Amino acid sequence: MVNKEITELPGIGEKRAELFKKRGIRTLSDLLYFFPRSHEDRTAFREIADCKEGEDVCIKAIAVSSVKVYRVRRNMTVSTMPVCDSSGSLHIVWYNNRFVKDAYHADEEYIFFGRVTRDKYGKRQMVNPIVERSGNERFTGKIVPLYHLTGNLTQKIVQSAMENALRAAGRLDEYIPDDIRAGYKLAEINFAMKNIHFPDDFNSYSIARRRFVFEELMILQLALLEKKTDNTAAEGIVFEDTLCVNEFISSLPFPLTGAQRRTLEEITADLTSGGIMNRLVQGDVGSGKTAVAAAAIYAAVKNGHQAAMMAPTEILARQHKETLDELFAGSGINVVLLTGGMKAAERRRALDYIALGSADVIIGTHAVIQEDVEYYDLALAVADEQHRFGVGQRAALAAKGHNPHMLIMSATPIPRTLALILYGDLDISVIDELPPGRKAVKTYAVGENMRKRVCAFIEKNVSAGSQAYVVCPLVEETETSDLKDAQGLAERLQEMFPQYRVGLVHGKMRPKLKDAVMTSFVAGDIQILVSTTVIEVGVNVPNANLMIIENAERFGLSQLHQLRGRVGRGQEQAFCILIAHGNNEITRQRMRTMCTSNDGFYISEQDLKLRGPGDFFGTRQHGLPEMRIANLFEDTDILKQAQEAAKKIISEDASLAGEKYARLKARVEKLLPEDVVMN
Ligand code: ADP
Ligand code: MG
Repeated sequence: MVNKEITELPGIGEKRAELFKKRGIRTLSDLLYFFPRSHEDRTAFREIADCKEGEDVCIKAIAVSSVKVYRVRRNMTVSTMPVCDSSGSLHIVWYNNRFVKDAYHADEEYIFFGRVTRDKYGKRQMVNPIVERSGNERFTGKIVPLYHLTGNLTQKIVQSAMENALRAAGRLDEYIPDDIRAGYKLAEINFAMKNIHFPDDFNSYSIARRRFVFEELMILQLALLEKKTDNTAAEGIVFEDTLCVNEFISSLPFPLTGAQRRTLEEITADLTSGGIMNRLVQGDVGSGKTAVAAAAIYAAVKNGHQAAMMAPTEILARQHKETLDELFAGSGINVVLLTGGMKAAERRRALDYIALGSADVIIGTHAVIQEDVEYYDLALAVADEQHRFGVGQRAALAAKGHNPHMLIMSATPIPRTLALILYGDLDISVIDELPPGRKAVKTYAVGENMRKRVCAFIEKNVSAGSQAYVVCPLVEETETSDLKDAQGLAERLQEMFPQYRVGLVHGKMRPKLKDAVMTSFVAGDIQILVSTTVIEVGVNVPNANLMIIENAERFGLSQLHQLRGRVGRGQEQAFCILIAHGNNEITRQRMRTMCTSNDGFYISEQDLKLRGPGDFFGTRQHGLPEMRIANLFEDTDILKQAQEAAKKIISEDASLAGEKYARLKARVEKLLPEDVVMN
């Protein structure tokens, strides 16, 4: 039954079905798993005389007369209807609602749910209430679900569809085997499904919610565990020579920090263990992940193998090549670049080098995992700034060698417990220390009214020989937004500062052009670089000490922190100015976090708290499905239990082939489609 299309429900035609489809809802099952964002308590029935101002209440009252409509302005009508119960009376008021006149009639009894307020004469009223005919209540007198809406969907449409769906679906089959349900005290599916939407009371809701949070996290965990190419049993390439790592370290122009040293020791232990390294290195921007990766790459080559490094952008790949060329100077290591933008002949030659083994290190964008790339002997694959990669791409990189070691570098710090769950079998190293002498970027949040001073500040810095980034969220101006568009901003800044060169990079630019602009900025020929977030990842320009971020309120905190990490890479004091619009409390709090902290882990935690896990762990960032109900920050206890349960299931039946898990298996497969492969 639950696989029926929602168009079979009363009141849902093709048009409405389209709206639901936008939320990914096609079947009854999809609809039932569209959980409410919150509930409204409409259980409180009051006598009119007892209603207090500002309270949300239900009243049962009789219409004293029919609805009267007044036109108060050209575009505004007010409709009113006096109602009374045995205790007193008040006015029901609607603004701009032409339907109510014919909908409600004198002498009929209705239930009204709404907020009691006073009109300008001090008389009590209820504006735009929810109305149902007495004896016909569906969404008053109880706890009512509220959903995230899209398009023209209204709460009433969704509530009503949900109620009908619950009825039409009939008895639901249980997915979770009895022993697990009993072991973790999880509510049964039918009870849970009814009470997640239309709870009898809030306690029943909590019980229902716990079941679905558990279910969601367990299914996620099962999907991750099942998709993992289990290479823990396979034999890894052993790097016999590790002295070369020390040789490399002593060739560096700086001593490694303690955290870098520790991480490198962990990596070396992996590389000599006989197993396969699957390690995630988390380190704040500027913590020196490249040097650590370079040491591992050096070891791979000195042990007679090839190493590949995958970067999310062409600019970054190029910069990594330059960095490695410098670090490996005089060692005879041949670093080859492989990017999508290369000419055919150039690319052909690179591919030959790679296949014949004369290229020791291959650096590139996604090009390094394309089908026609054949490696001679790939022993180490490094993925930089992993949050930009889908999980599938990481796996594709790993598949390029015979069980190569994998090193994943991430500058998006996430709380450790969550990393353990999201990255399942990855070992994690944390570089939690910045190189000495690094000054924290001074960060200020300002409003639009400070723009003049911001411009003066740009002038002051650039005239002193420094360079500036100006970042904004959009490429082209759209009618509906007041977002500063990059193009327009670049033009205005160029007019304002004719004595400097203002450059522009954005995501829609051709890579060649983008590279040319970036190269000019790196070389110092461009002083002010306006950009969308393409510069977010990794680019290193030590002379850039000022970062202005337009519409800072539109960015996630972790993203702001990443952006800010682009400055402060040299000796000078660096500044970051966040221009934020709107004055709501959340924005203020978020900006305050940015101004008071330089700690990526702390910031990401705050981000998670303030934005909710949906955005944070969105598909975009991690290649994982969005959570429907679980809050990965608040539900960590359930998360641990669900993880434990998933492991138990996998140890019992690794591919969920048995009858016992058949229904669960279907859910798991639906969650992560086949082509998503975890490492
Ligand atoms: P990220 O971790 O953000 O990738 P990078 O690897 O780009 O950081 O390093 C940032 C800068 O710090 C580089 O210029 C690098 O040469 C420098 N650096 C790295 N490690 C050290 C260190 N131990 N001491 C001093 N400078 C370092
Ligand atoms: Mg980096």
